[in-house]
Amino acid sequence: MSDIRYNTLDDRYVIIAAERLHRPFFNPNTAIQQQLGLKHISSCPFCEGHESKTTPEIVAIREKSSKADEKGWKIRVIPNRYKALNIETDYYAQHSGLFELHKGFGAHEIVIDTPQHDLTMDKWSEETSLNWFNILKYRINDLKSDQRLQALSIFKNSGSKAGASQEHPHTQIIALPILPTQLLHQFYRFHQHYRSTGRTLIEDMIVQEYEDATRIISDTDSFVAFCPFASEFPFEVMIVAKEGLSRLENITDKESKELSSLLVEIFIKLKREVGEFDYNISLSTPPLQKTTQTSSFYNDIDKISRLMLRITPRIYQHAGFEISMGMMINPVTPENAARRLRG
Ligand SMILES: [Zn+2]
Repeated sequence: MSDIRYNTLDDRYVIIAAERLHRPFFNPNTAIQQQLGLKHISSCPFCEGHESKTTPEIVAIREKSSKADEKGWKIRVIPNRYKALNIETDYYAQHSGLFELHKGFGAHEIVIDTPQHDLTMDKWSEETSLNWFNILKYRINDLKSDQRLQALSIFKNSGSKAGASQEHPHTQIIALPILPTQLLHQFYRFHQHYRSTGRTLIEDMIVQEYEDATRIISDTDSFVAFCPFASEFPFEVMIVAKEGLSRLENITDKESKELSSLLVEIFIKLKREVGEFDYNISLSTPPLQKTTQTSSFYNDIDKISRLMLRITPRIYQHAGFEISMGMMINPVTPENAARRLRG
């Protein structure tokens, strides 16, 4: 059973999830098997034909003739067997002196992006991407209907340096009963900027990125990809909605197509510059509920927020300084990274 505990010295929460220790990590030999062309990995629980090795599916996009938890799917969502949080747990918070503890209530789901073991994001078709966006939208809408859930994290870990325990392409969704302090403070800043200027902070930042022109990599009608001015990771890339689109639930099919083609383009460029690399992707999601903490900005969320997707390659190891100061060291300038990615 896991807990969410509040770290009063640093104003941060931590999930203490002992059962995560027992999850199996993929054998690096599978990477060699893959190079040899053994694409269907016999031990992989996420490959098509191995549906019985996973928890029963929550939802899937599949061929009409196929049944749940059988072959014939294109994308599948399952509860994480080694979950950090559990939706079936009763939710309650305990306060004891300086210690605040939330029993491990929440959701932890895995989206198996594709039945194919080796279909990494740079090889995704338009259909694969559209299925991905559609199923994420469906899960966000379903999870936020549970009033107890305050925040959602949507992320991908790819490769062991990025913390992935499965090699097969997948995405994770974690829903929390608390609002992480970093997310709350970010929305306070967004709202403060909006109140003093009448504009969206992210849109103003993009205007300045276009003026500087040194960190922009590529763009479409609705999205721009750039290496952020204060990148924390070498070759970090942000893809941001230029105007209007505040959250993933509202993305249109046209925007999904644009975003996925830009994403594939960025991955091809990153691979060209840094070779095969481990990485994390995170997708922004605003706070889910109107509460005493969010009431000051909640009604303005669509005005102050824009959809952001952050790609952080894990080619440089953060260490003691980063832990002691909560401040990253990045050995590659974002201007140099963007110039190389533009090619
Ligand atoms: Zn697989």
